Amino acid sequence: MRVWKMLKDSYGRIIDYARISLTDKCNMRCRYCMPEEGIRTRSHEELLKFEEIYLLLEIFKELGIRKFRFTGGEPFIRRNAMDFFENLNIGEFYITTNLSSKNLDIARLNNLNLGGLNVSLDTLNPEKYKWLTRGWDLEPVIKNLRNLRVKNVKLNAVVIKDFNEDEINPLIDFANEIGATMRFIEKMDFLKDNLKRAPVDKIRKNLIDKNFISEKEITPKSSPAVYHQQISGKGKVGFILPVSKSFCATCNRIRVTFDGRIKLCLFAEKSVNLRDMLRDGKGKDEIKKILLQAVLAKSRAPKIESQTETMSAIGG
Ligand code: SAM
Ligand code: SF4
Repeated sequence: MRVWKMLKDSYGRIIDYARISLTDKCNMRCRYCMPEEGIRTRSHEELLKFEEIYLLLEIFKELGIRKFRFTGGEPFIRRNAMDFFENLNIGEFYITTNLSSKNLDIARLNNLNLGGLNVSLDTLNPEKYKWLTRGWDLEPVIKNLRNLRVKNVKLNAVVIKDFNEDEINPLIDFANEIGATMRFIEKMDFLKDNLKRAPVDKIRKNLIDKNFISEKEITPKSSPAVYHQQISGKGKVGFILPVSKSFCATCNRIRVTFDGRIKLCLFAEKSVNLRDMLRDGKGKDEIKKILLQAVLAKSRAPKIESQTETMSAIGG
């Protein structure tokens, strides 16, 4: 059997992580992510079929990709998403979710072969949650979080000026209570949403000054987050600073959009459409050659302003 090279870009970065979006649709309409009217309706044909994703996963594995995260939109609103996850054959995998989908079966979720689960949780205040998500209840999300029995749960909060800046400590306390890791994300301005980015790096420094978290930075390989240990000994707190501290230099990821486009970067304008190649009957080896060539165009450090799609369409 032919041994394939690993995916490597022209700056020497090895690509061993793929984020795969199951859908660009979402039940929620978070103000920083989705336009109020939602997104244009797609025909079923536009979506990558599950069998096509399984085939792409095989191709990725053979090219050295070791970590897979499924995201969206909201992955669990795609019909039969849980069946899809249960039938994966890639070892441990990761999911990013809002954990709010009405039909979400937490018992089945707990039985998936998960290496970790990321959950969006921007506020603990039901009124604020309803406002930010344009109409969703916080209570079922909290209930689902308390019922989770999976390892490595991370809670992600996009920090917005004059909205949830006052909830840094309550969110950390809640994460500690359920055995999760709290992470604070700097808001990227993709939409005209009138929400102001809060200074997440300043928040991090304040927590260090107050002796709440240790000064020592923990930076897992190729992670976009920097972590600090809580002085109380409880757990770590993470900070993701895509705007003020780019993590492009160590980027090891590619993204597959809901319609099968490979995005070499969150901010990449151009993409290669793998769905069309699969449907045109291109074989696995041919697609591997195209991918090995395509990753060479991965940009070193793109401009955030070059982003023209919403986060829900790219997969976060
Ligand atoms: N629906 C799932 C969820 O909310 O976790 C998965 C998809 S969502 C697009 C993935 C991540 O992108 C979430 O953690 C969300 O907070 C983040 N995100 C969306 N829009 C963002 C923005 N404008 N700035 C920073 N992060 C954003
Ligand atoms: Fe949906 Fe996630 Fe975007 Fe919120 S952040 S609208 S939950 S895709």
